[in-house]
Amino acid sequence: MSDNEHAIERALRRSGVRLTRARRAVLDALLEAERHLTAAQVHALGRQSCPSLSLASVYRTLALLQSLGHVQLVHSDDDCQSYAVAPAGHSHQLICSACGWTYAFSECDLSPLVADMEARTGFRIVEHLLELRGLCPKCRE
Ligand SMILES: [Zn+2]
Ligand SMILES: [Zn+2]
Repeated sequence: MSDNEHAIERALRRSGVRLTRARRAVLDALLEAERHLTAAQVHALGRQSCPSLSLASVYRTLALLQSLGHVQLVHSDDDCQSYAVAPAGHSHQLICSACGWTYAFSECDLSPLVADMEARTGFRIVEHLLELRGLCPKCRE
């Protein structure tokens, strides 16, 4: 199991999501491929470790992992949607409200704000969430 998978599994547990055999098969397929995969490709790869994996549960798992920020939706040139594991660690998402295209980024300038809030409130801030929504270039056309 890779570090990335450990990190994702820990994050899922914190969110109260159990990594079932089917979910793990989907996650492993994406982690091992190290490139974008369509749902059908995830299904084909995932069935090697979990023969009972259905395409419907691939879609459900991809949607779940996407909603938790572990998987991002990627547009490919042929207009076919594919999926990739989102970068581990500190990351934020830019999401197209129209088509769901997701782009992960780690640049953010919240450190001065975090320091200021800690000074003002006495909190020890350990985490922040940032999500930007809008229309992607395709949907703006
Ligand atoms: Zn879009
Ligand atoms: Zn940040």
